[in-house]
Amino acid sequence: MTDARRLAYLEALGVDVYVRRGLEPVPEVARPEQMDPAESMPATPASAAPGVEATLDWEPLRAMVSACTRCSLHATRTQTVFGVGNRSAKWMFIGEAPGAEEDRQGEPFVGRAGQLLTSMLKAMGFAREDVYIANVLKCRPPGNRDPKPEEAVQCRGYLERQIELVAPALIVAVGRIAAQNLLATDTALARLRGKVHSLGPRGWPLVVTYHPAYLLRSPGEKRKAWQDLLFARQVFARLAAGERVLP
Ligand code: SF4
Repeated sequence: MTDARRLAYLEALGVDVYVRRGLEPVPEVARPEQMDPAESMPATPASAAPGVEATLDWEPLRAMVSACTRCSLHATRTQTVFGVGNRSAKWMFIGEAPGAEEDRQGEPFVGRAGQLLTSMLKAMGFAREDVYIANVLKCRPPGNRDPKPEEAVQCRGYLERQIELVAPALIVAVGRIAAQNLLATDTALARLRGKVHSLGPRGWPLVVTYHPAYLLRSPGEKRKAWQDLLFARQVFARLAAGERVLP
């Protein structure tokens, strides 16, 4: 990407000139399964979500999601919103749930918030196709209400299998709901930012940032979101250098 284009994306994020410097090429990094087991992060407890076979591949998984009636959201969806992007990505971005536009198009993070996420990715030097993007829920909650805990539990196995299949080096939880859901916490997003968390029994490294829909409502927070993305890059670089990123 040219500097001019990156500049434009950063301007869309409301980022000042001084933080435009220093975007080095993203280094290679070992994924968790390639790491020395002795170096692995502490596991969080496995969820009680209904199972999805640990051997299920992409297409059967997608078909299973498309036909899913595990929670009541199946009755109001236009279609399921499975996930999109590079199935071997080293970065995985996980949001909350489809909105109206996502429900219509069948793809996560489209519409205005999705365009801002795309700008955030491009400011980091990624195309949308470079990363994998999914949501905690695969069906739209009516009226864009927050997911109910039971819905997230029912849907969790699909996301867990997606994470296993992608095997990302780093996960970015996009927004408070996704972060709290993935980390099984009610801690405020502000207190989850700037730290590396461990997700699931495999100890996937996870960092959090604001949801672009929130940033559209609160543009003054875009600077913090950019700080989160720079932090994510630092974490990724540390992983690439073989450093521990968790205590
Ligand atoms: S939200 Fe998830 S669990 Fe509920 S019906 Fe959709 S795919 Fe199934």
